[in-house]
Amino acid sequence: MKKTIAVLGATGSIGIQTLNAVRTCLNNVNIDVLTGYKNIDRLAPLVDEFKPEKVWVPDKEAASKLNALVTHRCKVFTGDEELIACAAENNADIVINALVGRAGLAPTLAAISAGKDIALANKETLVTAGPLVINLARKKNVGITPIDSEHSAIWQCLQDNPQAVEKILLTASGGPFRTWSQKKITNARAEDALRHPNWKMGAKITIDSATLMNKGLELIEAMHLFNQPLENIEILVHPQSIIHSMVQYHDGSVIAQLGLPDMQLPILYALSAPKRVKNNFPRLDFTKCGDLTFEAPNIDKFPCLALAIQAAKTGGTLPAVMNYMNEWAVGEFLKNKIGFYDISSLIALAFRSYTVKPVKTLADIQDAEAWAAQFIKSLPSTKYEIHV
Ligand code: NAD
Ligand code: MG
Repeated sequence: MKKTIAVLGATGSIGIQTLNAVRTCLNNVNIDVLTGYKNIDRLAPLVDEFKPEKVWVPDKEAASKLNALVTHRCKVFTGDEELIACAAENNADIVINALVGRAGLAPTLAAISAGKDIALANKETLVTAGPLVINLARKKNVGITPIDSEHSAIWQCLQDNPQAVEKILLTASGGPFRTWSQKKITNARAEDALRHPNWKMGAKITIDSATLMNKGLELIEAMHLFNQPLENIEILVHPQSIIHSMVQYHDGSVIAQLGLPDMQLPILYALSAPKRVKNNFPRLDFTKCGDLTFEAPNIDKFPCLALAIQAAKTGGTLPAVMNYMNEWAVGEFLKNKIGFYDISSLIALAFRSYTVKPVKTLADIQDAEAWAAQFIKSLPSTKYEIHV
């Protein structure tokens, strides 16, 4: 494979695993762009190792720090506008979007507008603006390949016959609180929620996995990526995270994709599909992986999932409001400023005050996010005792 890639979010969990997969398994891959954020000490050695043409960091201070740490000379960009420009103006064949949160949307749209194929980890892109992103990609004849493990699995299972799908079985680990009582979860703190049983990921997605909002975001992601109605997607809790998702065809056959929980596998597939890259990562041993079990998700215990299903059903600007509220509330929870169930309560409160609008342009999403920002400002600042 001879390819040039841009890695947005190079210092995060997916970014680091992408660069490790490139380092260990892919010859002939050239890296044109790397972006970091706060962790300049982590970015600097990557710049010297991969020698990109362009690097982006948030501000001038970060740029000076980076320049002092690296020997490789490259153009260093700063500020939100230049992040968007770096996503579009580069020599990459594929832009890997491993940014976290709603910051990922504008760079994705810019890269698609510039005709770049996208390997997408940033699920918030499709949650906030799925129809806009998918329509633009179609218009520009751009491919969007999923990095999220479930979506990579579904995509692999769909290669058989996408016309004959009966339903998608979207698997979920259930997170660290699957077996906890509701009472115990009420008092859970950030450090409890950050202990995911199967995956080591960035902080935001780890909290989203504990609330099951992650599965709700993935449900909306799957609807847009695979053009499926909500009722064709079933969420199935599978605590071992060995089956990464399945597709049931209209003859009753079910095709599953299995593997050890290692994000490098979907990352490699997103970059090389339909080819498979040989590697020496650990293999799944069926005699050692134990029982594979399944159960329905408990929506009463995890109200974020119910809210995401409501947003998926309603559509329009509601998923963007949900995503904004969730991102903010997860940040507050990580600082131990609010409780676990306040995340869902605050989103529910916003839903009750918001009038949903159709999405025609990016401005509609931006208006919805501005509404959510204003709503947050209007909340009592000392304590959010808003259990609903
Ligand atoms: P992370 O927090 O570890 O990394 C995020 C990256 O984005 C970092 O490089 C960070 O510096 C950068 N960043 C953060 N805020 C930014 C901003 N405002 N502007 C520019 N850059 C910014 O997150 P992650 O766990 O790697 O997740 C990245 C995305 O991939 C998320 O959308 C997540 O849902 C998705 N995802 C992650 C995993 C995983 O295993 N980590 C699995 C599936 C999907
Ligand atoms: Mg996932």
